[in-house]
Amino acid sequence: MSKPLIVQKFGGTSMGTIENIHTVAKHIISAKKSGNQLVVVVSAMSGETNRLMALAKQVDNVPTARELDVLLSAGEQMSMALLAMTLNKLGYPAVSLTGSQANIMTDNRHNDAAIQRIDTTRIYDLLALDKIVIVAGFQGVNTAGDITTLGRGGSDTTAVVLAGALSAAECQIFTDVDGVYTIDPRIVPTAQKLAVIDFPSMASMAQHGAKVLHLPSVHYAWTHQVPLRVLSTFDASPGEVYSGTLVKGNDCHQAICGFAIQSDMCLISMKRTALADVQKQCQMLGIMIWNVIERPEWVAIVIKQDVYTKLELVIESKISNSEPIGLVTAVGVQAEQLAKGCHQRLAEQGITVIDTVLNPLSITFVISPDSIDKAANILHHAYINSSDVANSQQKCIVVETI
Ligand code: ADP
Ligand code: ASP
Ligand code: MG
Repeated sequence: MSKPLIVQKFGGTSMGTIENIHTVAKHIISAKKSGNQLVVVVSAMSGETNRLMALAKQVDNVPTARELDVLLSAGEQMSMALLAMTLNKLGYPAVSLTGSQANIMTDNRHNDAAIQRIDTTRIYDLLALDKIVIVAGFQGVNTAGDITTLGRGGSDTTAVVLAGALSAAECQIFTDVDGVYTIDPRIVPTAQKLAVIDFPSMASMAQHGAKVLHLPSVHYAWTHQVPLRVLSTFDASPGEVYSGTLVKGNDCHQAICGFAIQSDMCLISMKRTALADVQKQCQMLGIMIWNVIERPEWVAIVIKQDVYTKLELVIESKISNSEPIGLVTAVGVQAEQLAKGCHQRLAEQGITVIDTVLNPLSITFVISPDSIDKAANILHHAYINSSDVANSQQKCIVVETI
């Protein structure tokens, strides 16, 4: 009988120093000693992708998309080689592969490509030789043979898609927190760790800013039912039985399961007559519009701040104002019922809600960026920490399934 295969992914902080890479190696060795075959996906060392991006912007504020991918993919290439060297030195033969060497085929979109298929032959050949296979996250190759990248945070998606393609027993996302919390624990200290979160809730949290998992990785794991776990590189000793958070289940039954925060957004207002043209430009540039806010006097779109420069170049004359904003989103089957209560609680603390957006499993509040952390703490305290919502968390709402 062949050994079970596990895909482990280590993020930027986990790969951040040579010392941390040793900790990563210990996790891998421990899983290997337990009788598993290992395919390991790595991110660039923390700060490296930002450093490379800043270098590119020194050359050109809107760098050529193809060349940006060539540059950014170098971060993961450094990590994979350092980890493979570490394992080899420790006596555990490892081979590193770039996205292209691992045959991770993507579509042709640069900077935000989607994986279309993986030819796993080379990986299986290396596993058959008892090698630990290290794969660079966040990158692939398109039909022209050019390097593509999967969008910020994309190494999670590399890991999950590889786990699906290899029918792995589990995809383990090792990071700098010990699981998925009810809200970003770095912003709200009273955040609670979830033992399990269902796919739709996780997708909604990721979509609205919970960067602990890259959104396409959640969608892929959901569609292909990949066993997915989030756990800490640092809080558990290698080999210890650690559980983290299991992402599984196709239905959300929680009234409110958590909140997501997105602080790097931009509100661009314009005359009503300019909207259609701006929407068209966004589509042509591949810029996602998160929301359209319509008021009698103006209309505005919400986009990510980091794509604003790209858009500004082509629509500058149409913009009447642009300002940074943040979003706080509640996720759960009863999220939309929170509108009135949330507005009231935020208003009591002097926080104005610029706009509210309803989706089937979530409600988003558009807020000034200075108030985001405070708003997140207020709402989390009111609906997760306070006893009434501790109750509503317990309350299992039966969702009819067809
Ligand atoms: P990695 O480099 O390992 O991929 P990321 O920085 O991409 O790690 O994701 C981990 C971070 O996600 C955490 O440090 C935390 O600040 C943030 N985060 C946001 N929302 C959540 C949440 N609901 N649960 C856990 N972490 C969250
Ligand atoms: N290194 C890339 C980033 O910083 C990909 C990743 O970390 O998942 O976004
Ligand atoms: Mg990440």
